[in-house]
Amino acid sequence: MHFKGFPPLEKPFHIAPLVHHFMGGILIDEECRTDLAGLFAAGEVTGGIHGANRSGGNALTDCVVFGAKAGQYAAEHVKIKPKSQIDETEAKQKLERISQIASREASDLGSPRLVKAKVQEIMWEKAGVIRNRKSLLEAEKELTQLKQENLPKLFGKNPHEVMEAIEATNMIIVASLVVKAALARKESRGAHYRTDYPNQDDKKRLGHAVLTKRSEKRKANTRIARAEVEFDFLTEMNTHMRVQVRS
Ligand SMILES: Cc1cc2nc3c(=O)[nH]c(=O)nc-3n(C[C@H](O)[C@H](O)[C@H](O)COP(=O)(O)OP(=O)(O)OC[C@H]3O[C@@H](n4cnc5c(N)ncnc54)[C@H](O)[C@@H]3O)c2cc1C
Repeated sequence: MHFKGFPPLEKPFHIAPLVHHFMGGILIDEECRTDLAGLFAAGEVTGGIHGANRSGGNALTDCVVFGAKAGQYAAEHVKIKPKSQIDETEAKQKLERISQIASREASDLGSPRLVKAKVQEIMWEKAGVIRNRKSLLEAEKELTQLKQENLPKLFGKNPHEVMEAIEATNMIIVASLVVKAALARKESRGAHYRTDYPNQDDKKRLGHAVLTKRSEKRKANTRIARAEVEFDFLTEMNTHMRVQVRS
């Protein structure tokens, strides 16, 4: 602070909480494979590496260790696996979706920038560092409203905006999953803190909340299912959620 010309002992200053790591993400195996063939992941986008809290400094070691592994195994994968086949029907559906976005009229309701900002605001205010059932239900309601009122109007007048429109949709999906997982966790653990359940409950909740698309359930290699919640959060994804418990 002194280097920046700010004398902390002479002037008062504000301290605010912030998110410094996303404690959750895509599941990977020990070779950094995801459930999607040929897609490898490493770093903050992955979940489960650090448990419910990430110790200081370990995010960067995570990136170094798993980044190197992901690169190594991805390089091996392309040497031995044939190129993935693209599903033509799915490709056509995606192109159709892009042309719909590109042909829509511009409006405030459909502005990708405003929708993204709204998702960020909802998640910061209601599903952020300190959360509880009331705030999470409000977040859920507001995300549903965005899904119903804004998603069908998302437009993109240039390639960058089209990309932002797709990102806005993905952000709503991920935000809905985070809220669902937080609602199902009736305890506090590490960075997952709920004011209405401030204590850790190892008897009932020692494990990860794993959310999978219904048609692509992972084979359970762990003992399961003390809590099962099924829900639709977007018509295109029927998701099944279960709390996996370490065996
Ligand atoms: C304030 C703060 C302090 C922190 N302090 C520490 C610390 O002291 N020690 C520590 O270990 N960790 C710390 N962390 C955490 C650490 O910095 C991050 O976990 C780490 O940098 C994540 O790296 P990453 O490569 O996984 O993800 P990122 O650094 O987020 O990289 C993801 C990249 O993907 C790009 N991208 C996103 N979408 C797309 C797309 N559609 N197409 C192409 N590219 C895309 C992004 O632009 C970005 O460059 C801190 C984090 C914060 C916020």
